[in-house]
Amino acid sequence: MAILKIVKYGDPRLRQKTKDVLKFSKKIKVLVADMLDTMYANNGVGLAAPQVGEALRIFVIDVSEPNEPYNPIVFINPKIIKKAGAMNSYEGCLSFPQAYTNVKRYSHIIIKAQNLDGRFFTMESKGDTLLTKALQHEFDHLNGILFVDHARDVDETNKILEEFQLNPIESDKWLKEEDLEAEIQAQPKNVEEQMQEAVDGEN
Ligand code: ZN
Repeated sequence: MAILKIVKYGDPRLRQKTKDVLKFSKKIKVLVADMLDTMYANNGVGLAAPQVGEALRIFVIDVSEPNEPYNPIVFINPKIIKKAGAMNSYEGCLSFPQAYTNVKRYSHIIIKAQNLDGRFFTMESKGDTLLTKALQHEFDHLNGILFVDHARDVDETNKILEEFQLNPIESDKWLKEEDLEAEIQAQPKNVEEQMQEAVDGEN
């Protein structure tokens, strides 16, 4: 059990391709235990192997609430087998200390992966939840994709990155995703916003 050093944005290891885990060995079990220790020590909800310098297709998440028991979930060799819909997601990343921004995400995801014993499982997540966001964010890390690559507003995101002394968005990595953006824009506003508008209208 150890807390590992987290690789920070700008380090090429965050962009490297990762390899499938072929042997569910003791070494892999130790790495996963260390990744969980590292994630909890940094109050993260997810951590991917490239973030600790390992080019392997492994990520861990725990989206339990602070008042709930720990619920770590390990994803090895994950594949996204369905993605649909679109939503805004306000996200940060342990490799980007303190920087948060709005990004585009799918609103419905089905992921298939193996657990630490090599057994396959499927997980579905729908709607604007931490789980739906975390699954996509961590999965992306295994393909060298970072959350700022999905930024909805490049200029705004660059300002935020600059504020925290981080490099600007790498323009050749930024994903256009015009269809996702159009779908987010087209969504009816949430109930809270509509209520506030109604109140404002009365004044
Ligand atoms: Zn991240």
